[in-house]
Amino acid sequence: MSDFDEFSPTTRAVRAGQIRSPEAEHSELIYATSSFVFDSAAEAAARFAGESPGNIYSRFTNPTVRMFEQRLAAMEGGERCVGTSSGMSAILSTCMGLLEAGDHIVSSRAIFGTTVNLFNKILSKFGLATSFVPLTDYDAWEAAIRPETKMLFLETPSNPLTEIADIERLADIAHRHDCLLVVDNCFCTPILQQPFKYGADIVIHSATKYLDGQGRCVGGAVIGPQEMMEEHVFGFLRTAGPTMSPFNAWVFLKGLETLGVRMRAHSDSANQLAHWLAEQSGVEKVYYPGLKSHAQHDLASRQQSGFGGIVSFEVSGGRERAWQLIDRLRLFSITANLGDTKSTVTHPATTTHSRLSDAERAAAGIGDGLVRLSAGLEDVGDLQADLAAALAAR
Ligand SMILES: *Cc1c(COP(=O)(O)O)cnc(C)c1O
Repeated sequence: MSDFDEFSPTTRAVRAGQIRSPEAEHSELIYATSSFVFDSAAEAAARFAGESPGNIYSRFTNPTVRMFEQRLAAMEGGERCVGTSSGMSAILSTCMGLLEAGDHIVSSRAIFGTTVNLFNKILSKFGLATSFVPLTDYDAWEAAIRPETKMLFLETPSNPLTEIADIERLADIAHRHDCLLVVDNCFCTPILQQPFKYGADIVIHSATKYLDGQGRCVGGAVIGPQEMMEEHVFGFLRTAGPTMSPFNAWVFLKGLETLGVRMRAHSDSANQLAHWLAEQSGVEKVYYPGLKSHAQHDLASRQQSGFGGIVSFEVSGGRERAWQLIDRLRLFSITANLGDTKSTVTHPATTTHSRLSDAERAAAGIGDGLVRLSAGLEDVGDLQADLAAALAAR
């Protein structure tokens, strides 16, 4: 636990986890070194034997990565964070570190597409089976649990329909069956939602999104109990090698310092755009937890301190109309990333969810007219005017 426990996540984002060198720098250093030097052969031996603490090699530990880890752990209210080379390697390291052949995962169906592929195509080769359930069907979660189930996995809000799961309720189900509850907290970040407060055991991040916040670097993180992380997740990482680079760690570390103001600005803009979109003709439905019409609006209001920066909406006219709208936008980049200062737009049916069959897409509620926005930090009036112009054009 850090020295900044009594302060809010926004303050921890700026202050927690710093390691200051003898030069007394104010801003954090990038320790661009692959290895570290020992004073003597005896000290090297002690370091390798784990008898003396300290750095050996940057595949294991690096001070810049350590600062990022300490800061993010403090923000989430978790004990130990392990930085990884990407969000995907954070999920991989969690599964490889904590599970073994024969174990079973129950996962929300509405998760990042590559995570589905990781579970179905890669982990399955090593004897790890996964069952998928609808995010908010709590009976289905319970029914899918088998004696060999070790882990429940989810994202909330879901992508792209922003469904909200009750983390406390799922933690209760998980713990009654001796399973770990793993929450991918990418969409909210600890500024808007702290899953440990509701009983989650492990929190995962793709640092690529909001933690960086300016679309520069790929990275990830796993946060959880000290011993579990140290022995199993860090234990896997230092041997298998999907380590975070010191430069990327520094970018994320400085990104965290502005996360508080950014998340509130992203949320405010998305909230305004969602309310405005809901009143436009040609827009059939808007998916945003901040709308009273959202099925889990009350739950989102309790569990999150803001509704987040992602808004999805269905236009009438299907794919043709959705593509037309996307192509006409000037202030929304057509790109797969989200959580950037620049607003982004995607057509889920033909990009992130294109590998699903028509029936699977229909079951997931991903219509051909669905458009997903990630609200950036441009002036919200300009964003709204850009959407208005694109919606008006025929
Ligand atoms: C992007 C993303 C990931 C994967 O992260 P990478 O950094 O791209 O490997 C995992 N989960 C969610 C929710 C994401 O949006």
